[in-house]
Amino acid sequence: MKYCRFQFENQIHYGSVESRDGEPWIMDLIAAPKEDLAFRLEHECASSASFDFEPMPMSAAGLLAPVTPSKIVCIGRNYRDHVKELGHELPAEPLFFLKPPSSLLKPGGVVCMPAISARVDYEGELALVIGRRVRHLKPEDWRSALRGLTLANDVTARDLQNKDGQWTRAKGFDTFCPVGPLVSDELDLEAGLTIETRVNGELRQHGSTLDFIFAVPQLLAHITAAFTLEPGDLVLTGTPAGVGPLQPGDRVEIGIPGLGVLTNTFQPDEA
Ligand code: ZN
Repeated sequence: MKYCRFQFENQIHYGSVESRDGEPWIMDLIAAPKEDLAFRLEHECASSASFDFEPMPMSAAGLLAPVTPSKIVCIGRNYRDHVKELGHELPAEPLFFLKPPSSLLKPGGVVCMPAISARVDYEGELALVIGRRVRHLKPEDWRSALRGLTLANDVTARDLQNKDGQWTRAKGFDTFCPVGPLVSDELDLEAGLTIETRVNGELRQHGSTLDFIFAVPQLLAHITAAFTLEPGDLVLTGTPAGVGPLQPGDRVEIGIPGLGVLTNTFQPDEA
């Protein structure tokens, strides 16, 4: 099953997604997951659908981030070639950090480049969507923890990351976590997924999840040994080699076959 989250006639909906002539279409409305209702009560006006829905191309929908996480956990340094390009040693255990939910951005949204940073980088990543409350997960139970997979951009102010000595500010600016366009539980993670990032159409990152230093079962066991993951939480699994700085006006596309393409543009923050 594949689904997306979108706005239509001033209401927020979830829709099942299927391929029609090679294009993703929203075929029908589906129930919102429980965590989304809690999120909307806090952030938006909750409402329910009561109209006949006609299928529409996903490209014509007002897409929103397909998840409403209580937290966004990110893995640093999980592809060998990226560790090398940054000049670091291979980590002995997974290194993780958090991005705040306020950094979430919808597919097609504009990433605001903060004036206090001179270098904003893209990081194309596979993201895990958590499906149930999990704590102290055994590695062999990893499948039961997942609702599905999606795409994310772990946008990073590289100069501030180096300057601060820790990563909260550099990775946590508003709009620094584009996510989507859809969530799928149809992919075979163990067979390996190919992830590619393009900037203005030019290929910059090409990696396989088979090159993870730490596989998903280990990542989830390691994270949930520290804190509880809730339904809808995101785990960004790290980025392959090829990260680099962006200029205002750049368009970044991150793709994995079966998960569509996450596209966002970058502009200076006018605030
Ligand atoms: Zn990252």
